[in-house]
Amino acid sequence: ALSKLPNTGTTIFSQMSELATHHNAINLSQGFPDFDGPSCLLKRVDHYIKQGNNQYAPMIGIASLRQGINAKLQRCYDFQADPDSQITITSGATEALFVTISALVHVGDEVIVFDPAYDSYDPAIRLSGGCPIHVPLLPPNFEMDWDRIRNAVTSKTRMIIINSPHNPTCQTLTSRDLNELYELAEKHDLLVLSDEVYEHIVFDGQAHQSVLRHKALAERSVVVSSFGKTYHTTGWKIGYCIAPSHLMAEIRKVHQYVTFSVSTPMQYAIADFLQETPEHDQQLPAFYQRKRDHFNRAMSSSRFEFTATSGTYFQLMNYRAIQDTTDTEFALWLIEHAGVAAIPISVFYQTPPTDMRLIRFCFAKQDARSTAQPRNW
Ligand code: PMP
Ligand code: GLN
Repeated sequence: ALSKLPNTGTTIFSQMSELATHHNAINLSQGFPDFDGPSCLLKRVDHYIKQGNNQYAPMIGIASLRQGINAKLQRCYDFQADPDSQITITSGATEALFVTISALVHVGDEVIVFDPAYDSYDPAIRLSGGCPIHVPLLPPNFEMDWDRIRNAVTSKTRMIIINSPHNPTCQTLTSRDLNELYELAEKHDLLVLSDEVYEHIVFDGQAHQSVLRHKALAERSVVVSSFGKTYHTTGWKIGYCIAPSHLMAEIRKVHQYVTFSVSTPMQYAIADFLQETPEHDQQLPAFYQRKRDHFNRAMSSSRFEFTATSGTYFQLMNYRAIQDTTDTEFALWLIEHAGVAAIPISVFYQTPPTDMRLIRFCFAKQDARSTAQPRNW
């Protein structure tokens, strides 16, 4: 057979954004802000381009950015990394996830992922010859079902991929979850890949439970994050990963042949911003909580049912009082009939529950856009 990914189509994000454009709909589907990052950050890129910082960056990322990330890890999670051997700058979190899986998953290894799962994990595992083991999160709150997770571990299990704050359920892990994870990983000698791209988008006074807070767990973990989410610059594709040196050495072997290095002027600009404006990260929860509440206030007069998101810039809505159709049918109807694009949740499952009536809206939008009046509503 020609295809290495016979059951994979074009991602739902490309599909829905294209449909949104086609139907001239308000695009609350694919997750990206419709506003720019801080203007001083944007100006810095211009500055570095004009200054001639336009050739290859070092393979592992420029030193000042890796040092800035390390300072942030100390500030936020009381975690001390060695920027030279434990931090690598990647082309978004997407590349960090892909190279980590490519470097560490061997043919025949089993990797546990939780459904619904962000869509890039499963194909990356398969391309490495690994076997994704999909364990469902527990409805209605999508909690980790630790008994079920323990039962899914076999002698072939090599890695567990977690994601908190979680896309698309918008839930966050607790320190108890991290303890459970640590016990399991330690007992079976498992690696943990922790996708923390929404680390600074948590609400209602919570503290993000980074794997890096749990020092023993961090010793067997790769943590992935992205400036796209934190600095409102998803199109820049600058992300990073943090790992113990012996794991990072393997990850870099792959990274050097996937991208080698990533955009030089943007790395310099982000390094400056990170150093000069550490308060940006601390202000992000309040910034997005206001947007969440603005969106939900407008939605409260609709027939959608919801509980406010715990983290991420997404909000799940249950549409059962509006229509009894599948979520994909409902999302298509919503685009065509109401001119609003959203993401159906069933696409994030290997085996979607048949009674799933949830769609995901992105509220990282200017206030007038996220609450614009839908057509024919
Ligand atoms: N992981 C999750 C959970 C995400 O939501 C996203 C962005 N949609 C990514 C990874 C990819 O991040 P990046 O755009 O930095 O590649
Ligand atoms: N992570 C974004 C989302 O969940 C989309 C990223 C992408 O388009 N690949 O909407």
